Amino acid sequence: MDRYAVFGHPVRHSQSPRIHAAFAAQTGQALSYEAIEAPLDGFEATLRAFIAAGGRGGNVTVPFKEQAFRLADRCDDLAAQAQAVNTLRVEPDGRLAGFNTDGIGLLRDLTQNLGVPLRGRRVLLLGAGGAAAGVIGPLLAAGVAELVIANRTAPRAQALAARFAGQGEIHTAELTAPGEGFDVVLNATAAGLGGQAPAVPVGVFGPRAVAYDLVYGPPAAPFLTLARQAGITACHDGLGMLVEQAAEAFWLWRGVRPATAPVIAALRGG
Ligand code: NAP
Repeated sequence: MDRYAVFGHPVRHSQSPRIHAAFAAQTGQALSYEAIEAPLDGFEATLRAFIAAGGRGGNVTVPFKEQAFRLADRCDDLAAQAQAVNTLRVEPDGRLAGFNTDGIGLLRDLTQNLGVPLRGRRVLLLGAGGAAAGVIGPLLAAGVAELVIANRTAPRAQALAARFAGQGEIHTAELTAPGEGFDVVLNATAAGLGGQAPAVPVGVFGPRAVAYDLVYGPPAAPFLTLARQAGITACHDGLGMLVEQAAEAFWLWRGVRPATAPVIAALRGG
C-alpha cells in the first residue's frame, strides 16, 4: 500500500489523515496516510527516513513549508512564487517534486463552494506568512481589482508584495489602517490560535463583504466575531480550503479527483 503523511510540529490536531482516508475510500485508492510530528530541527531527517521506508509523498504544514521548498528538487510555479511547499511527491526517479496547493484550495472554496466572485473585487489579505504567500498568486490570477496586504510586521508585507509586483494591483497597508470597504477580507494571520482577532478597524468590511478566516474551527472565532459585530453575515472559516487543498494534493499523487462536498459535510458534522 502506498504511504503518505502530513509533517508538522505540532501535527496531532491535523484533520488531514481523516480527509485523505475519506478520499481513498471514496475513490477506491489503496493508500495509507498518517500524521508525523517531526522535531523542530529534524524535518529533513524525518522526511528522508519516511521516503526510505517507501513513502510516496506528503503534505507539509507549519513550520516546515519553507524548508520543504528548499528540499524539493523541482517546484511548480505556485510553490516557486510562494517559496513554500505544502505538497511533496516522490517521482519515479526518486527526485522530490514540490507543489503549493493552498491558493488553489482557497480559490475553490471561495468561488465554487461558497459562490464568492473574485473578479473585479477589492480584497484585503491580513498576514504575510506562508499561508498568505501561497494564496497571493491565485488571487491575482483570479482578476481581483486590488489586493491589499496588511501585516503586523509591515516589512514582511512589503517584501511579499514586491515579489508579486507586476502580476496585478497589489499594495500594502498598515494593519491598523488598511483602508475601508473591502469586498472580501481574508484573515491569513495566526492571531486566532492565540484567541485574538488581528487589530483591524471594523471599517475594513464593506456593506456586503465576505469575511473568511483561513484557520478553521474555534481559532477562527475571534476574527469572524469581529466581522459579525461589523454587521457581516457572510462569515466563513477555512475548513473548505483545507479539504480543497487536500483534494488537489490527492490529485497530484494519484491522478484522481475526489469529491470534496461530502468530506466537508462530514467534517462539519463532527
Ligand atoms: P506563519 O507563516 O507563522 O505566519 C503567521 C502570520 O500571522 C504572520 O503574518 C504574523 O505576523 C501573523 N500573526 C501572528 N499572530 C498575530 C497577531 N496576534 N496579530 C496579528 N498578526 C499575527 O503562519 P502561516 O503558515 O502563514 O499560517 C497562518 C494561518 O493560516 C495558520 O493558522 C494556519 O493554520 C492557517 N492555514 C490554513 C490553511 C487551510 O487549508 N485552511 C492552509 C494554510 C494555513 P508577523 O509577521 O507580524 O509575525
